[in-house]
Amino acid sequence: MSTAEAASHLRENPFGLAKSQLRRVGEIFELDPNLIRVLSQCKKAVEVSIPVAKDDGSIEVYLGYRVTHNIARGPSKGGIRYHPDVTLDEVKSLAMWMTWKCALMNLPFGGAKGGVICDPKTLSASELERMTRRYTSEIINDIGPERDIPAPDVGTDGRVMAWIFDTYSMNKGHSVLGVVTGKPLSIGGSLGREEATARGALYCIQALSVKNGERLADYSVAIQGFGNVGANLARLLHLEGAKVVAVSDSRGAVYNPNGIDVPAAVAHKQERGTLLELANAEQLTNDELLELPCDILAPCGLEQVITEDNASRVQAKIICEGANGPVTPTADAVLEDKGVLILPDILANAGGVVVSYFEWVQGLQEYFWREEEVNAKLHDIVARAFQEAWQTKERRDTSLRMASYGLAVQRVAEATTTRGLYP
Ligand code: GLU
Repeated sequence: MSTAEAASHLRENPFGLAKSQLRRVGEIFELDPNLIRVLSQCKKAVEVSIPVAKDDGSIEVYLGYRVTHNIARGPSKGGIRYHPDVTLDEVKSLAMWMTWKCALMNLPFGGAKGGVICDPKTLSASELERMTRRYTSEIINDIGPERDIPAPDVGTDGRVMAWIFDTYSMNKGHSVLGVVTGKPLSIGGSLGREEATARGALYCIQALSVKNGERLADYSVAIQGFGNVGANLARLLHLEGAKVVAVSDSRGAVYNPNGIDVPAAVAHKQERGTLLELANAEQLTNDELLELPCDILAPCGLEQVITEDNASRVQAKIICEGANGPVTPTADAVLEDKGVLILPDILANAGGVVVSYFEWVQGLQEYFWREEEVNAKLHDIVARAFQEAWQTKERRDTSLRMASYGLAVQRVAEATTTRGLYP
């Protein structure tokens, strides 16, 4: 199926889901409904058209967005997504989740997100560069180190961040390190940023295993998605002795109940651009991977992969949300009834934005830290957030998701009321 024919992965309106999630948090945590109404909307949404000269001489016009959800606790922060299914409402929901994620981690940031409707896999490197530079110049007055700081997300990487950094800096006339995070090391990136999202997820799984009185080596794990988060999580869990039984990319899954050779899978993907035909593994579909018998299921791709249709067939005991919004609220309720423990997105995948914060701080100070220092500080923040969320879950007798969202929303609500409504 070509991309143009492919159905969107978004079956429900993601912003509608994010808003109803917020309303639920407001009820459970008894927050002021006026405040919930304020937080239900995004502060600013910019839509830009991005004309790009293609290599064949034609011109393609792409549509791009940058949305700021909230800045009560500091400048807004969040990635930029390049994907054919991007919609304004998707970007709004992702921006709102960034607000909660930064608040849960206690970072001095609000939430934002950007997106361009395109299929980066079909663009040449020079087309991608021209598109990125034009998109950056269209939002140049909306971003900045004190204003809004982009980062990588689905379909973007360090190379794209380097073009954003360069375009912004050329327009200012000097290097502005703090304008974007997830930069390559050679231009002011942070050690540890590349694998930070996966490392944060690993720290959450470790903290949970301690609560359960289990060891990582006892766990079998199925990982859906083999981009930055999924591939690094597979690698880190494998290094820690866990048994990674299945991994998948957009083309399909590979499965071995005795354990996948993860370094071989990473090399195979690098060489062939796919996981299919990996040696010593059976081929499955992505849907089959989600229903495998295993201890941990880690959806690390896009939103809405576990829905009311398949939630009852999930066999994992633990779900670790490496992606943003991979479980719909209806599926969430089904899984909760089944006793599945969910490490929610704003906790499980926050490692990326935590090390983005470190990169921003290092850039502002022009003083760079050792990798062990970065990882130790990341551990401190994620482990503390896990404990706070866990205590709230116990105290309120609610799910870890509701506890995490509740803590986060309360913090943003407090900052908003303390500042007061302007004018
Ligand atoms: N895109 C990542 C996320 O969803 C990272 C955002 C950032 O580092 O600002 O958390």
